[in-house]
Amino acid sequence: MNQQIYNTMSGKKEIFKPLKEGEVKMYLCGPTVYDFLHIGNFRGAIIFNLIRNWFEEQGRKVTFVYNYTDVDDKIIKRANEEGVECSDITERFIKEFETDFGRLGLKPHDYRPRVTEHIPQIIELIEGIQKNGKAYEVEGEVFYDTQAFEGYGKLSKKKLDELEAGHRVDVDGRKKNPQDFVLWKPSKAGEPSWDSPWGKGRPGWHIECSAMVKSILGETIDIHGGGIDLIFPHHENEIAQSEGCNCTTYANYWVHNEFINFGAEKMSKSLGNVITARNFMETYHPEILKYLFLSAHYRTKMSITDDKLLQTISALNRIYSSLLLASSTVKKVDAPGEMDKAFGSKLKELDTKITEALNDDFNTAEMISFIFEGVRAFNALGFANKGKRNPIHKGCSEAFLSWMKKYGEMSALFNADPEKILNELDEVLISMKDIDRSKVEELITKRAQAREAKDWAQADEIRDELAAMDIELLDGQAKAWRVKVSE
Ligand code: AMP
Ligand code: ZN
Repeated sequence: MNQQIYNTMSGKKEIFKPLKEGEVKMYLCGPTVYDFLHIGNFRGAIIFNLIRNWFEEQGRKVTFVYNYTDVDDKIIKRANEEGVECSDITERFIKEFETDFGRLGLKPHDYRPRVTEHIPQIIELIEGIQKNGKAYEVEGEVFYDTQAFEGYGKLSKKKLDELEAGHRVDVDGRKKNPQDFVLWKPSKAGEPSWDSPWGKGRPGWHIECSAMVKSILGETIDIHGGGIDLIFPHHENEIAQSEGCNCTTYANYWVHNEFINFGAEKMSKSLGNVITARNFMETYHPEILKYLFLSAHYRTKMSITDDKLLQTISALNRIYSSLLLASSTVKKVDAPGEMDKAFGSKLKELDTKITEALNDDFNTAEMISFIFEGVRAFNALGFANKGKRNPIHKGCSEAFLSWMKKYGEMSALFNADPEKILNELDEVLISMKDIDRSKVEELITKRAQAREAKDWAQADEIRDELAAMDIELLDGQAKAWRVKVSE
């Protein structure tokens, strides 16, 4: 089956045809580096990591570019507030981004260009636009002449006259058309500035991506991505700039991820202070963030609720418990593993379904549900509580482990040490449910004493009391208890 991708430009799913067979050139608009990133900023990074891996799984060579916006008003403002250089701010937050990205275990991008490293390319591009009669200079400021670009509005489906109507107030009198935008502007005192044919100044926001795409990937790329907020004006303006200069299609497929809804009423209360990715990963777990995002399709709006967090933890618990069972089974059986035919064909059938899901506009929600079906099929083999394990158990465990590894690598999930992460997820639950650990330990000791005294009634009473606190007892196991997660 062919790979289908929803293209914002056409408003429908299209069969993916790369510019060059076997290769994919992709560009994703990256962050403005003036602060820690919030979790929403990572939705694109997480889904594009999977998109990239899925193309590579199909044997395509991917070149993936993700930029840093390191010239911006917000950066200047923060530098002034802190009394430091802009570069101090950007260096610091690029490092913080890299720390977050590293903790998420996503595959590093092939290029992470910065605006400040592409000023000559930006100037060259503006000159090209000017030469084609699509830009004009007023007092050291260069504007894009949107009226001169026929296709303006084709991505966002906005019409120029509608845009004009929306611009009646506050129009800069120097602009030919209200929706014309800045390509280059003079810097104010204390702002970063570079020499240019229009005097000392700095680039406007949109031009950077057009210049970095051209200098790293070329005039036309396969996929350009970002959050839906970027469709207008950012991506619309990128198209006007690149096509206005190069006179050829800028990007063949426009892929936009929906937003993580922070304002939603139902948003997790506990999330109030933890919307930076850093805080989320410290309070919850990087795995929870990735699973949460991939369990929804990237084109659906998503709000994060406590219920969703608990469901995610419950799902991860099930998955990692199965991985733990599988790896301990492999260790327990000395003889070579043998495969159970039915289980083998179940995994194959799921492979086909996952391929179809990912080929259908990267439907990771379905992918995750099929992975879960694989986990259920493994558990249904029913040897968890059997003391003695045989070569069939071993063979199925090996097959299950390598099956999970394949999808885990693709989605940056399921590759943590099972025992370690199960404990970490327990800790998250203890804190989310506000469980009093010393009270739990105390009740468990009391119950053990009651059992020793053969006071079954009291022992049962204590067990019920613990159950009401969401504590599940694990009699006879290394760990005495765990927090119950709803299924
Ligand atoms: P910014 O630094 O604001 O330009 O954002 C960097 C990337 O994060 C862009 O691709 C945005 O579209 C995306 N983004 C920003 N806010 C959200 C959100 N709440 N949910 C999903 N993506 C977002
Ligand atoms: Zn961009």
